[in-house]
Amino acid sequence: QKAEWAKLVNESTITKDGEHVELAANIGKPEDLTGVLENGGEGVGLYRTEFLYMGRTQLPTEEEQFAAFKTVLEGMEGKPVVIRTLDIGGDKELPYLELPKEMNPFLGFRAIRLCLEMQDMFRTQLRALLRASIYGNLKIMFPMIATLDEFRSAKALLEEEKQKLLAEGQQVAEKIEIGIMVEIPSTAVLADQFAKEVDFFSIGTNDLIQYTMAADRMNQRVSYLYQPYSPSILRLVKMVIDAAHAEGKWAGMCGEMAGDETAIPHLLGLGLDEFSMSATSILKARSQILRLSKAEMKNLAEKALQMRTTNEVIEAVKEFIK
Ligand code: PEP
Ligand code: MG
Repeated sequence: QKAEWAKLVNESTITKDGEHVELAANIGKPEDLTGVLENGGEGVGLYRTEFLYMGRTQLPTEEEQFAAFKTVLEGMEGKPVVIRTLDIGGDKELPYLELPKEMNPFLGFRAIRLCLEMQDMFRTQLRALLRASIYGNLKIMFPMIATLDEFRSAKALLEEEKQKLLAEGQQVAEKIEIGIMVEIPSTAVLADQFAKEVDFFSIGTNDLIQYTMAADRMNQRVSYLYQPYSPSILRLVKMVIDAAHAEGKWAGMCGEMAGDETAIPHLLGLGLDEFSMSATSILKARSQILRLSKAEMKNLAEKALQMRTTNEVIEAVKEFIK
């Protein structure tokens, strides 16, 4: 099987009925790029920049971040690279920020919430991103967006830093797509409105599932509620994809679900444009998608959306997994 997959490294991902989807990789550091290219990644769908901030005693400088972003953009040679701004908090702590302990860190001061308040730190990262933008096909993504106001504020800071850089005589790419993670139910529900202002969505199912089911993704005792194939999750995913397409935007997914063979038939049927997963899952996913017809998966997904339980959804997909 592994040998069969290896033949697909340079293939693009086209369904039996001729529809292309993009298979991208999630990375945490520039060194991960080797794995992405070896496994035939068509892009980077999620670069988790928090690793630049972790395992050290102070914030990374603009230069350090610029160097990392430039390496990734150059390494991907013009293929799309979605870089997510800092998503710290929740399960990921930064000791040197000395933030007060919270009762519910996953519902607390994290990601974009923290960045919009700690603006110096955020602006430094935005400058590094903007400066790196000329070295490849950069797309910038904001994490944990719950309201349009948050998105607008983050975008305004980015625009301010861009204008400052230009005034300093630095180069910035003319067009940079700016998108958001959809990982909070309010944003999925309001996706039609968001789609008018963002350039793309990437669905973060790791968090979207935990927030929709109100089940901590780290807590074994409630893990039975962590159900990617729940019709409720599929409906949210559909809302996001349909909202994007209605505005001519694209929708991807960078949560674990995107690389899951039971989920892939449904996601294909719902019209997902980009699947971002760990590099080691890409070839297996490609070999699966090459054997599926998008039109057939659309029928499957439509049925699943009307199902009542997660088990029904799992049963329905079994025949497509071989
Ligand atoms: C997600 O929430 O699905 C996601 C991709 O982000 P992270 O796992 O980094 O929270
Ligand atoms: Mg997340």
